[in-house]
Amino acid sequence: MSQDITRPGTVAASQQDGQQVDSQDGQHGDAFENLLHENRKFAPSKEFKASAVVTEADYAESEAGRPAFWAKKARELLTWNKDFTEALDWSNPPFAKWFVGGEVNAAYNALDRHVENGLGDRVAIYFEGEPGDTRQYTYAQLTQEVKKAANAFESLGVAKGDRVAVYLPMIPEAVITLLACARIGAVHSVVFGGFSADALRSRIDDAEAKLVVTADGTYRRGKPSALKPAVDEALANDGHTVQNVVVVKRNGQDVDWHTDRDLWWDDTVGTASAEHTAVGHDSEHPLFILYTSGTTGKPKGILHTTGGYLTQGAYTHKAVFDLHPETDVYWCTADVGWVTGHTYVAYAPLVNGATQVMYEGTPDSPHQGRWWEIVEKYKVSILYTAPTAIRTFMKWGRDIPDKYDLSSLRLLGSVGESINPEAWMWYRDVIGGNKTPIVDTWWQTETGAQMIAPLPGVTATKPGSAQVPLPGIAVDVVDEMGESVPDGHGGFLVIREPWPSMLRGIWGDPERFKETYWSRFESMYFAGDGAKKDEDGDIWLLGRVDDVMNVSGHRLSTTEIESALVSHPAVAEAAVVGAADETTGQAVVAFVILRGDAVDSGDEIVQELRNHVGKEIGPIAKPKNILVVPELPKTRSGKIMRRLLKDVAEGREVGDATTLSDNTVMQQIATSLRK
Ligand code: ATP
Ligand code: MG
Repeated sequence: MSQDITRPGTVAASQQDGQQVDSQDGQHGDAFENLLHENRKFAPSKEFKASAVVTEADYAESEAGRPAFWAKKARELLTWNKDFTEALDWSNPPFAKWFVGGEVNAAYNALDRHVENGLGDRVAIYFEGEPGDTRQYTYAQLTQEVKKAANAFESLGVAKGDRVAVYLPMIPEAVITLLACARIGAVHSVVFGGFSADALRSRIDDAEAKLVVTADGTYRRGKPSALKPAVDEALANDGHTVQNVVVVKRNGQDVDWHTDRDLWWDDTVGTASAEHTAVGHDSEHPLFILYTSGTTGKPKGILHTTGGYLTQGAYTHKAVFDLHPETDVYWCTADVGWVTGHTYVAYAPLVNGATQVMYEGTPDSPHQGRWWEIVEKYKVSILYTAPTAIRTFMKWGRDIPDKYDLSSLRLLGSVGESINPEAWMWYRDVIGGNKTPIVDTWWQTETGAQMIAPLPGVTATKPGSAQVPLPGIAVDVVDEMGESVPDGHGGFLVIREPWPSMLRGIWGDPERFKETYWSRFESMYFAGDGAKKDEDGDIWLLGRVDDVMNVSGHRLSTTEIESALVSHPAVAEAAVVGAADETTGQAVVAFVILRGDAVDSGDEIVQELRNHVGKEIGPIAKPKNILVVPELPKTRSGKIMRRLLKDVAEGREVGDATTLSDNTVMQQIATSLRK
C-alpha cells in the first residue's frame, strides 16, 4: 500500500500576536484565518483502486454537464414507472424540479425489484436489539412486511399526500413504516424517540399528521424506556389531526390504551394482506418532512421529494462507500430520527440492494465493547458513524476495541461534525487496522445526501478534511462578497448549482426557505458553515460562521483550535467558544474532556494545553481559559452545542436547551467549574 505518512508540519501562524488584520478592511477577504496545516495523506491501495465501484471518470463526465450526469445516474440506479422528459427545471429558483414528468416508487425500488431480480433471499437487515435479541429480514420478507404495512395504513384511511408521524426506536418496524408510507405516497415525518411530548405535538401539528406510528417503548442502557406515554401526552389536548395511533409491541411494558384511537401493530399490520401493487409517484411528490438537529437554534421542517432524493442517495451510497452489495455488510449507526438514518439506513442501502446491520441501543450496553462485538459477529465491512462516537471510544481507550476481531472492516465513514485529525487517525489505526480508507462526508438535512467527500478508490485521503465535492456537485468557498477564494484561504461554504437531493422547501413556509438559504449570496445556497480550501484545494469544514471568533481582529475557527486540543494525548474531546473580552474583543475559551487514562493536574495541564495550542497553531490561538469538564452539551444527534458554552463562558443564564440530549450536563459543568 503506498502511503505518505509525514508528520503534520504544523506551521506556526505568520501573524504576530495582537496585530490588527481585519477582513473588512480590504487587506484580505477571508472569513477565517487559515492556521492549521496537515501533511498526512493516504493514497488508495492498488487492490482498492482496482475494484472501486466509481472511478475518476465520473468527475469529468459530470463536469461536462451536471443535469445530464444526474439524468444518466437516475436511469441507471432507479427503475422508473414512467421515464422523465427533462433532468432539471430551474426556471423558478430556488424552487427546483428534478426529473420532470418521471414517475417512480421508492419502496418498489428499495424492495420489490430486488426480489423480481432473484435477490429475494439476500439479507436486507440484520437487527440486533439492545437486550441481545436478534431478527433478520431477507429482501423477500421485508417486501412482504412493507406491503402489509401499506395495506394496513390504507385501511386506516391514509391516502397519498397524507402525513404520518413516526415516533419509533431503532427497530425494523421504523424502516418498514417509512417504506410503507413511501409506497402509498404518504409523507412521513419522523420525530426522534428522545424528544418530549411537546416536541412531538408541535411536529404533529406542523405536519397535520393523520396517523402516528409508535412503540410501547424500547431499551436504553439495559432498562425499559417508554415511548407511548409521550404520544398519549402529546395527544391529550384536542385540536390535533391524528385519527389513529399504531403501536409496535417492543419492550412489553404496560401502556394506557385509547380504544377509539389506538391499534396494536400486530393486529393491523400483522393481519393485513401481503399483496400490494406499487404505483409510480411523480418525481417531485413529497417523500418526507424532517426537522434539522437544532444545533444552532429552533429546528426547521425540511421537505424532500422523491426522484432526485433517491438518485443522489443511491449514487453517493455506492460511490462514497464503494459498495459491493454482493459481499459487503454495511452498518450506519445513525438513528432513523436523523437525516443520516433516512438516507443511509432506510433508503439508499435498500435501493442499492445492500445487506445492513441495525442496532437498537447505546454503545455501552451492556459493555463498552458492544459495537465491536457487533462488527465481529456480522463481519461488518463498511461502518458509518459520527465523530462524537469516535471521540467517546478514544476516551474509553483502545484496549476495548483491541479485544475484538475487526479485520472485516474495509471502509470507515464519518458524518455530523468535523472529525479532528487526531480522531481520524485513531479511527483509522485502532478501528481500521491502519488499512481502511476513511471517508469524511459533509452534508446536511437540507442537502438530503452527501455533498463533499473523498471517493475511496480515487482520492488520497487526508485526516480532518472532507476534501472534494462529489461528482455532479458544485460546492465553493467564497468571501463576504461571494467571490471564490483562492486555495489556502477560508470563507463561506456555498453551493452554486441545484443538486438532485436538495431540499424543496421548509414545510409550509416558502418565504422562510428563501430567506434562510438563498438571501446571503446572490444565486447561491449558503449552508451556514465556514470552510477553507487548503493548498491542494481540499475543503476543510471550520464550524458554523456564527461561531467564528474574532480575537484582536483575527478570525479564528472553533474547529481548528478544537483539533489542536484533541491532538494532545491527554484530550479526548474539546469545544471552543469566543467569549466577550474587553481588550481583545473576544477571547478563546476552551472546554475539554480528558481521556480515561489522563490525570487532571489542574493548572499544570491547563498550562500545558495552552502551550500545545500555541505550538500547533500559533500564539494568537492560545485559549485564555481552559476548563476541564466531565461532559459537553450535545444535541440528541451528538453534536456539540457551543452556544450554551458561550453562555457559560460569558456568565449568562444558559439559553434554550430543549434539544440537549442530557439536560444534567449543564449542571455538571457548572458544578465542576465551582470546584
Ligand atoms: P440546525 O440547522 O437546526 O442548527 P444542524 O445544522 O446541526 O441543526 P443537521 O442538518 O443534522 O442539523 O447537520 C448539518 C450540519 O452538521 C452541517 O451544516 C455542518 O455544520 C455539520 N456537519 C455535518 N457533516 C459534517 C462534516 N463531515 N464535517 C463538518 N461538519 C459537518
Ligand atoms: Mg443546520
